[in-house]
Amino acid sequence: MTSKVGKESDALARAIGAVVEGLTFYDLANAAVAEMRVKVAFEEMGRRKKAQLAKLEAVAGTNATHAAVMPGIYPLDAVAKVECYVCGFVAETKAMPSACPSCGAARYAFEKEIALAKAWEIASETGRHSAVLFRASATHAAGAARTLLEDLAKEDEGQAVQADRQLAELRA
Ligand SMILES: [Zn+2]
Repeated sequence: MTSKVGKESDALARAIGAVVEGLTFYDLANAAVAEMRVKVAFEEMGRRKKAQLAKLEAVAGTNATHAAVMPGIYPLDAVAKVECYVCGFVAETKAMPSACPSCGAARYAFEKEIALAKAWEIASETGRHSAVLFRASATHAAGAARTLLEDLAKEDEGQAVQADRQLAELRA
């Protein structure tokens, strides 16, 4: 193993960490909200992250996913837990109960309200951040890995621009 290869696998692990974090965030956000347009937006962004992960794993191998470290780009704290608005009982979003185990309120008592504008803001901001991370990773990679990282950076920059456009339309 040369150090060049080591740097490249580190770069890929960083990129995978960012994508896994995005996928985790969008899955949780999709589960936590009820408003259909917001749900659909998060679902679509999650699908894109899933496709990016598949491309990275095709180059880096699935072992790299285990070594990946989440960079803290996405606001995971905002969606990891849900709270019953009747009694304040807190549950993991992943295991959102069908009724509150504390007060018996129906499932909707746990659903979060995230405005569509907020969803696009998150998409714009995180898209830009992950694009920067992909570009920085690309400088440590060569060949197919470098091309892929540059493509992913372009894709996320494009997504951020799209999100800005959606946001501008909402505010018009
Ligand atoms: Zn409750």
